Amino acid sequence: MCDLWLAILRKMEPKVQRSQFLTWFRDTAILGRDEGKLVVGLPLPMCLQWHMEHYRTPTLECAQEIDDSITQIVYQVDVSLKDTPERTINLLDHFPENKKRKLPGRQEVKMAEGIVSKIINPNYTLENFVVGGSNRLAHAACQAVAAQPGGKYNPLFIYGGVGLGKTHLLQATGNSILRQIPKAAIVYTTTEDFTNQVIEAIRSQKMERFRQRYRRVDALIIDDVQFLANKERTQEEFFHTFNALYEERKQVIISADRPPQELQLEDRLISRFERGMIADVSVPDYETRLAILVEKAREYELFLDMQVLQFIAEHTTRNVRELEGILMQAVALYELEQRMPTIRSIAEIMCKLNKDPHLEETQVGFESPPKRAPQMQEVLEEVSRYYSVSVADMLGASRIREILVPRQIAMFLGKKHLRLSYVRLGEIFSNRDHTTVMNAVSKIEDKLQNDPQLLREMRSLERELGVV
Ligand code: ADP
Ligand code: MG
Repeated sequence: MCDLWLAILRKMEPKVQRSQFLTWFRDTAILGRDEGKLVVGLPLPMCLQWHMEHYRTPTLECAQEIDDSITQIVYQVDVSLKDTPERTINLLDHFPENKKRKLPGRQEVKMAEGIVSKIINPNYTLENFVVGGSNRLAHAACQAVAAQPGGKYNPLFIYGGVGLGKTHLLQATGNSILRQIPKAAIVYTTTEDFTNQVIEAIRSQKMERFRQRYRRVDALIIDDVQFLANKERTQEEFFHTFNALYEERKQVIISADRPPQELQLEDRLISRFERGMIADVSVPDYETRLAILVEKAREYELFLDMQVLQFIAEHTTRNVRELEGILMQAVALYELEQRMPTIRSIAEIMCKLNKDPHLEETQVGFESPPKRAPQMQEVLEEVSRYYSVSVADMLGASRIREILVPRQIAMFLGKKHLRLSYVRLGEIFSNRDHTTVMNAVSKIEDKLQNDPQLLREMRSLERELGVV
């Protein structure tokens, strides 16, 4: 069965965009065959509708090219496919792109001369970037650059509004170059970092070293160059670095929130940018938004209903970061309350985040949450009273158990019932890092599973707070 499915996939692959192919055909398999009927297993309920609408006919056609006695494709969701790789086909193995090598495990690759390749996020790849009309050109340009750094598209300038994937594309291109040339010195830097390095080099009189370092890189990726505005000295340094690299046919990739001619930068810099390839990213259309959601939901391993994803895609129209934000909240809801997000709970989340003004209208018809909503102060006071520790101690730095546990419980309650973000909770608890809060909340969650005493205390606190 595996062989048949692989043969069908081989025929399908050229017909489907690569990222879509990887998204929708991952963890699929043939589950059985009943005469002409081929039963295709899908790993998630949310894949079902998508396959029915988009892939059923082409899949059947491909299957018939191999075996013309196949007359029908039917789908069946089998969530265990996700965890049984031996039953499915590893798409990346069977459909490698440009015979790429694996990413080096380290994010920083030390170079002999003292330069390192620095790519911040190895998870940003060109393969997990979902392509649609809004970003097709930018993605294609990045692919071309990755295939031939320092070639035709130099410099590559990507521009567009916030949260539309510029940083993702830039780092993905760097990752892709590194994969092919593991020894390349690729430097990704934000404009802010670059500026700070210039300032530091001036201060410590190590300008020459700074220059040498940057001039030895194979590809320089600099994000958000609009922030070079009004920084003459940094612009000057960048200009020289740029020229040195350009002359050596080294790749430069730049991003900004607007096209070159609208940047408030020296003309000579703008004209350099205009020499190369310029591509924009704009707000993705509905279908692309939906595909991005599916991809991200998979990354977070959250099995959402297709209707819920469609609802999010319909109502989140500004940018991708916003889409991700809502999904993250849905993940939190699921993890904290073991509640599968529904359209209604997503609508509530969106209202809370106040992300979408037109949601107010669509909101009609969703009941408001039935529970009483206490404030964080009340939660703190209640926990303080219950465990006889002061609020100040809970907010403070002490790590003794008697204080630590009530603090974690207060954070947990704040997350679960007030739905405060981890960042906000961190702020409340004396500006702790959000990861500290995340850890605290998950610790309590874990303990609740196997500590009946804590569970009783929690129920009683929740009753006191009037949230259950
Ligand atoms: P920008 O730099 O343009 O402000 P980012 O690159 O930081 O935007 O993107 C914000 C988030 O959205 C990132 O997590 C990124 O992975 C995601 N994202 C944006 N566009 C896409 C896309 N087309 N496919 C997958 N993820 C995307
Ligand atoms: Mg960015």
